[in-house]
Amino acid sequence: MMIKKIKNFFHFNKIKIKEENEWLLSPPIDRTLPGSRLLPYPAVCQPTVEQINGGEVPDFPAYIAVEITNVCNLQCVHCNYRYGLDHYTRDRGFISRGILEKVLKEAKGNGATVLMNYDGEPLMHKNFLEYLEYATELGLNTYFNTNGTLFSKDFADRIVKFYKGSIFFSIDGNKEWMEKIRIPAKYDKVVENLNYFLKVNEEHGWPITVGVSLCNLGQTPHERKAFLYEWLPKVNYVSMGEVNDKFGTMISDPMTVLKIKKRPICVVPWQTCGICFNGDVIPCSIYVTRANTTNAIFGNVNNQSIKEIWHGDAFQNFRKMVAEERYEKSYCDKCQRWFSQFYFPAVIENEVKIERNGYWTTYQNLKKGRLNFRE
Ligand code: SF4
Repeated sequence: MMIKKIKNFFHFNKIKIKEENEWLLSPPIDRTLPGSRLLPYPAVCQPTVEQINGGEVPDFPAYIAVEITNVCNLQCVHCNYRYGLDHYTRDRGFISRGILEKVLKEAKGNGATVLMNYDGEPLMHKNFLEYLEYATELGLNTYFNTNGTLFSKDFADRIVKFYKGSIFFSIDGNKEWMEKIRIPAKYDKVVENLNYFLKVNEEHGWPITVGVSLCNLGQTPHERKAFLYEWLPKVNYVSMGEVNDKFGTMISDPMTVLKIKKRPICVVPWQTCGICFNGDVIPCSIYVTRANTTNAIFGNVNNQSIKEIWHGDAFQNFRKMVAEERYEKSYCDKCQRWFSQFYFPAVIENEVKIERNGYWTTYQNLKKGRLNFRE
């Protein structure tokens, strides 16, 4: 079949769910904060008919995740990437300047956003600041997640001088929760440094968009509310997300309850890909631990461009497998990341914008600073 390359990155089929429907068994419920309440029916997103039939592929991924390193200094209880897990069969390492430049230039040339981390802690790379400087010089739209433990005052002083992307700090709740989850992070130190960074970011005119996040591992609705009320006045975003196991199966007691009749077809293979530190190109973060044992390495950027790999046979065969829902022999089988394809209408209350899908709820402080992310 002739494949049409389309420019419109987010060209997906968005279906508004009604009361009588094939997707949900009952109305959705919000239990994020104290007092559960019914939610309106969401819309569900999945690949278009042309995409499912193999005839339409975006010209380039809308965003790519770059594995700055898969090394981390913590041993978080829920992390599927940490040291010592039998299923993590890939080597550990750090991305070279050569691979990084190649990837970022191609991303810039094709208008893609870049997530500057994948399964490790990006600040473990000794050249991370220089890499961010390079991305900034290119004019790329970038963001990254950090556990905050290495985000020192010196790092804050340096990054506010040039960076214009977004940073999300994994805080997870109060001191008790963070220290129970993010072993051996020290809450007081991380928060002291984060507050210092917020101060210097303010002094520099708020060049960096800042978010804090919570992984739902049993915090009560009251604890989540306290977290939201503590942080939202100080940052742009507070995000709360569910947690999955190594297969992608959700292990959280969900904050947004969706009783599913039917799973949508995953949109990820038409939207994004991941670049491992050694240049291997893989489909998504569920495959990152075992990509070397699952035929899920579609090529390497040392030998080909991302675009060639994106449109190559290996990637197309993977899309075909997903489109035809032949999951049995793949890690897509038990994956439930598609909960994020159920989108609720955004709500604005008291200058806070609430955006929700079946996996994440994000509160945006509309009064705070300038925003670089999701504008
Ligand atoms: S179903 Fe899950 S494992 Fe498969 S491509 Fe989508 S996100 Fe990745």
